Amino acid sequence: MSTDFNYGSCADTTPINVPELFGSKVFSLKVMKERLPKETYKALKKTIELGACLQPELAAVVANAMKDWAIEKGATHYTHWFQPLTGSTAEKHDSFIAPTEDGSVIMEFSGKQLIQGEPDASSFPSGGLRATFEARGYTAWDCTSPAFLKEDAAGNVTLCIPTAFCSYKGEALDKKTPLLRSMNAVSAQALRVLKALGNATSSRVTSTVGSEQEYFLIEKEFYLNRLDLIACGRTLFGAPAPKGQELEDQYFGSIKDRVSAYMRDLDVELWKMGITSKTKHNEVAPAQYEMAPVFATTNIATDHNQLVMETMQKVALRHGMVCLLHEKPYAGVNGSGKHNNWSLSTDDGINLLDPGVTPEDNAQFLVFVCALLKAVNTHADIMRATCGSSGNDHRLGANEAPPAIISVFLGEELTEVLLNVSKGEKTVKKGDTFLKIGVDSLPELPKDNTDRNRTSPFAFTGNKFEFRMVGSSQSIAGPNVALNTIAAESLDEIATRLEKAADVNAEILKILQDTLKDHGRIIFNGNNYSPEWEKEAEKRGLPNVKTTVDALKSFVTPKAIKLFAKYNVLSKEELHSRYDIYTEQYSKQLNIEAQTAIQMVRRLYIPAAIRYMTELGSSISVVGKSATVQKELLDSIGGLLTSANKKLKKLEDETAKSQAIEKVDKQALAYRDKVKVTLNDLRADIDAIETLMPDDLWPVPVYSEMLFEL
Ligand code: ADP
Ligand code: MG
Repeated sequence: MSTDFNYGSCADTTPINVPELFGSKVFSLKVMKERLPKETYKALKKTIELGACLQPELAAVVANAMKDWAIEKGATHYTHWFQPLTGSTAEKHDSFIAPTEDGSVIMEFSGKQLIQGEPDASSFPSGGLRATFEARGYTAWDCTSPAFLKEDAAGNVTLCIPTAFCSYKGEALDKKTPLLRSMNAVSAQALRVLKALGNATSSRVTSTVGSEQEYFLIEKEFYLNRLDLIACGRTLFGAPAPKGQELEDQYFGSIKDRVSAYMRDLDVELWKMGITSKTKHNEVAPAQYEMAPVFATTNIATDHNQLVMETMQKVALRHGMVCLLHEKPYAGVNGSGKHNNWSLSTDDGINLLDPGVTPEDNAQFLVFVCALLKAVNTHADIMRATCGSSGNDHRLGANEAPPAIISVFLGEELTEVLLNVSKGEKTVKKGDTFLKIGVDSLPELPKDNTDRNRTSPFAFTGNKFEFRMVGSSQSIAGPNVALNTIAAESLDEIATRLEKAADVNAEILKILQDTLKDHGRIIFNGNNYSPEWEKEAEKRGLPNVKTTVDALKSFVTPKAIKLFAKYNVLSKEELHSRYDIYTEQYSKQLNIEAQTAIQMVRRLYIPAAIRYMTELGSSISVVGKSATVQKELLDSIGGLLTSANKKLKKLEDETAKSQAIEKVDKQALAYRDKVKVTLNDLRADIDAIETLMPDDLWPVPVYSEMLFEL
């Protein structure tokens, strides 16, 4: 397949004034300060800082200023922008118009309209939380995430109000509500620990996140000729290209002009929305790239990541390309993930995972590191569950980065410091000096060292933890709900110990010792991809859950139900609804893959093979005896085609059987163990046929085109 493309038309060389552009579409604190009465601004700022609810009187004034600002910038509509359990975002646009008696309209936006909306929720998954007769859901402004304007290519400008989405009874129907709850939980418990350690200056702790986003770009023409990419986001078929990523010449390689033009445009769009796009580079696989923003508060980072994914896709189309966010668009080369960099910060600017320089800072740092070790060791299964999806199954536990076993990388130095400090009180032998809590400072930890291990699913990287299991297409809300909540639980337990202790430094030492004893098994600084680690992890009793269907069960264990209920993050019912929805989503996705594969094989691959066999057949009858090559090819393709046809029928059969299963968990198992396996078998035959077929008879673009012709 060959197509001519226009590579040159997208260059825009106008200089960009970044400070002027940045946040120009955000109703930011700066805009609020300019436009709101002083008292209103102060009250709103306080509400935001405390993460509290907005009072109606305040809302009315804010709404009016927001409307005027939006209209000046060309907005005609507003929307409560929310994040249902589908994993994407949802918006319903209402115009500002209100008819008057004389037949004209005025532009109106009330405080009530700002604070709350009532979209028809019946078409969003609720997992049984919302009775079908109660179609309404409620959206409530999350005023800690600023309103912004979205613009489309047709010139529509919409005021977007980031919101949480609940049922009539207040049950969370979205990803944001539990995220906000989990942020409150971790803040409360971290503050208790700080107070017990003698730090009374902070009044709020926020979890911060920087999420690096990986993606692929593909020529739009190729994309449109691949039903599998259109319907499933990944190639279900395709023989490997002669070259993959083995030369390691793509990672951090120089960026091609066409991609560079795309990245520039992407930056501009993100900057306008106040998204701090910072880093861009080529990733490991061919045609794979990454963008990383500067970190922000978890809920803002989550909103921004959703916007990043949406904008990446939108901007790509303008450049004649398509952005693929799937975890595994192509077999045989790296898939895409999201590195979720997570830390805790106080409102007075202290990063609690930063080692610091004074002995007091160090003690605090070690306590928070211990809290994380304990949290991850206790709830590794929950962290794994939050990263489960049919797409991510192609990465986790499938011989690709990172493995499905959760462990924590601390680096040799920090591990040694922990061991050393934990021995602090007892002098083992003469001449040994140990670091003493509250007395000595930690030796400086070399920051670059922390990045040497790229194989760990949860790595300490100098002043934050990097959770690398998150899938590239998924919302980062779930993983961060988990991180915040499991951290809250550990910090709660540590706070209780410190509060009761007569000698805080001695108690810190004990906490350290206990953590290493009870949770030290979670530390692993070696190569996480090695087969030895899998064996070692098994010896240590660490869970190794390879597939989503099994992993999701961790949402509804007694342990999880107790944890999430205790911190008011998710109720038992909310957890069960999530389990049902995500399990069902898994089945639906595999069902779409199976249907797509069936169509492609029946309508494209089999006819193509038959055409070639016919050609070979006529050649044999013309050439006669010496047509040995033709005969050999005919035999090979004939054999493969017969086999493929059998597997196709099996796939149709298994898919129909799976569709008929009513129980969600049984159905997901059938899709995993029958449908997915049969589809892979079928792929093997089709890919083998591809390698024998002439280029001009092959009905779809091949890997070498999709991966290398950009
Ligand atoms: P790399 O991982 O490529 O070495 P960095 O370490 O600079 O790059 O940062 C990776 C991501 O981590 C960035 O998005 C950055 O903003 C984010 N990050 C840095 N500090 C924090 C923090 N305290 N909390 C959360 N994320 C952070
Ligand atoms: Mg990283």
